[in-house]
Amino acid sequence: MAIVRAAAYSAGMDEEGFAPSDAEMRRVLELARAGIARYGFGEELHPEDLARPWGNARWQDNAWLRGVRDLLEWVLGERACGPLRGTPAVRPTPYDVYRDLGDIDEIMRQGSRCPVRPGWPPPQSGEAMDATVHWLDGDTDIPPVCEHALGAYQCGCQDLAWMSAGG
Ligand SMILES: [Zn+2]
Repeated sequence: MAIVRAAAYSAGMDEEGFAPSDAEMRRVLELARAGIARYGFGEELHPEDLARPWGNARWQDNAWLRGVRDLLEWVLGERACGPLRGTPAVRPTPYDVYRDLGDIDEIMRQGSRCPVRPGWPPPQSGEAMDATVHWLDGDTDIPPVCEHALGAYQCGCQDLAWMSAGG
């Protein structure tokens, strides 16, 4: 049996479920959607943006928020398959989530010297999914979208929260 990339995530991964309540996950999902709507980039990812995914701060934040949204929609049962590997599960367990995110390290490394790989999301979406998993795991109480509906790159309030949490 294959071992999921366990090193990337908490050894205390809980098979029973996720740390935040459904209501809290839904609240963060709505914040992510509000942030995405604010930018108005739409759903399509354009090759010119994917060729230089670090070129535009608003685009980066949008990519982050998309990552949070895509993962939380799956966890909350709004989509039947995982956002990265298409893992089929109507309400995924933490194990399903880890399995779906098996390529997350490579996804996060895209874009520094090469364009985003076809079929993969931008690196910021990967980073956001990684941050979301840590929140789902209970590694941190700080959700991946702040109260201003912004991701890690766009809002200073999260820096302050990370500092006070010692993270
Ligand atoms: Zn904020």
